[in-house]
Amino acid sequence: MDPRDILLFIAAVTNLGFASAILFKNPKNPINIGYGLAVIATAAWTAGIAMFRIAGPAEGIAWARFYYLAAGFIATYFLYFGLHFPDRAAIPRVAPWQHALLHLPLAITAYLVFSPSFIASYEVVEAGKRIVLGPAYWFYVLFWISYMAAAFLVMRSRFRAASAQARLQLKFVLAGTLVAAIGGSIFNLFLPLFGNYDLIWVGPYPTLVMVITIGYAIFKHRILDIRIISTEIFSSALLAIFLLQFLRASSLPEFFLQGAILAASTFLFILLIRAMNREVRSREEISVLADHLAAANAELKRLDEAKSEFISIASHQLRAPLTVIKGYVSMFLEGTLGQISTLAQESMKKVAISAEQLIHLVADLLDLSRIEAGRMKYDFGRMVPGALVGEVVAELDATAKAKGIGLRFENRAPGAAVKADAGKIREVVMNLVDNAVKYTSAGEVGVTLDIHDSGGSRRIRIEVRDTGIGIRREDLNRMFTKFARTEEARRLRPDGLGLGLYVVKKIIEDHGGTVSVSSPGLGRGSTFAVELPIVP
Ligand code: ADP
Repeated sequence: MDPRDILLFIAAVTNLGFASAILFKNPKNPINIGYGLAVIATAAWTAGIAMFRIAGPAEGIAWARFYYLAAGFIATYFLYFGLHFPDRAAIPRVAPWQHALLHLPLAITAYLVFSPSFIASYEVVEAGKRIVLGPAYWFYVLFWISYMAAAFLVMRSRFRAASAQARLQLKFVLAGTLVAAIGGSIFNLFLPLFGNYDLIWVGPYPTLVMVITIGYAIFKHRILDIRIISTEIFSSALLAIFLLQFLRASSLPEFFLQGAILAASTFLFILLIRAMNREVRSREEISVLADHLAAANAELKRLDEAKSEFISIASHQLRAPLTVIKGYVSMFLEGTLGQISTLAQESMKKVAISAEQLIHLVADLLDLSRIEAGRMKYDFGRMVPGALVGEVVAELDATAKAKGIGLRFENRAPGAAVKADAGKIREVVMNLVDNAVKYTSAGEVGVTLDIHDSGGSRRIRIEVRDTGIGIRREDLNRMFTKFARTEEARRLRPDGLGLGLYVVKKIIEDHGGTVSVSSPGLGRGSTFAVELPIVP
């Protein structure tokens, strides 16, 4: 076969693959339908010209009619595409009569190509086959040129108003198709008009420019998925081969066999493309979802920061008035402001306890906001914790007594020192002993301080044991997380926030120590232990 014809077939197959990719991408969108059909018609026209050239003398005229008609389809569907592109809603729904009007010149062409006024005569000369055109051909030229020009003008007029993305698509589609249309009209429309029929094989090549230009846009700007395009070009090539085999079948059994192969491969081709499209679509959806998630995450972070800031500001504002309340209440209780009745004293004691609770809570909130902002500051120094633990126990003694529970402290490591922030360690011990007293209704709370050797390093261990509500095994792990509270604790003390242990863990870890909890189960008490490295 003449290499020019081989190239024509390659162009046809490439166009076909490209067209089916566009069509399958969204077969309901008029833009895809218009452009897909126009490119399929281009493939048919290209193949028609090749067939015209290689067919026997008797069949030449049939192929000429075929490709003229195919070119008519190109113009018709390109205009249909242009009317909708780039925004499918560019024109309101096309009414059936408008559809009919759009196809009218095509219908007339279908009639004319069979009349001698279009193809006046047909001859086979040395250079090849030649068609002598009649006056009706002028109608065809007018139809083709005006449809293509109308499509271009409509699209160009939309250029200014289009979005950046649509503009980019418009640029590529306009440039690529313009080259193809000019090439096609010079070699296949005008030259034959002036009797030159020898160069019609040149016309389809510029359509490859169109495919490459638009293909480039697709590569670069991901308008279509490249895997789909390559699969469809490959499958179109296979289908074209099966179609040729089918058309060339010379016996009835062969005809059926080739027909079956063609039908089966078409079916498989459609399944394959559908599956690929589905996958691409779900990948697109996933990437959209990922974008949403990222945005939601950023928003959450912003809200979290705002919340921390709010807590910080609010707790600073709460601290000052609370200190004032506490000061005046203790003045009342000490009698500095004159004697008050026993009843008033009782009430003042309650006020003092509530104020103390609030001060605790505000301290926890302030710590939380400092931890979250990464602004927790420590004033490290050498200290002996024994005295400090003793003070805390003494401070809570009255509360324990009021509840009728015992509170004992045993110091088995009187001289042991640690490097720590005394204020913060006090806060830790206060939290643990206060919890033990708070969550115990009967029995006793025991605090011990001793030395613990673990893995070659000597550590001081502060242990707080109680006979209180205990903790379920499954709850143990989460006790040191923010806002974690057990159901039993909530019932017994609805006023807690669940922040104390979180702060304890943070402080102890920042001291290079560990904190742990154990409990034999609900109602059977718990043991909290803090370990800190000993310094000489
Ligand atoms: P809060 O006491 O305000 O709830 P904490 O962070 O100090 O906050 O304690 C968190 C939770 O740990 C408590 O709500 C409770 O469920 C549990 N918990 C703490 N200490 C004890 C304890 N001694 N006995 C039983 N449960 C405790």
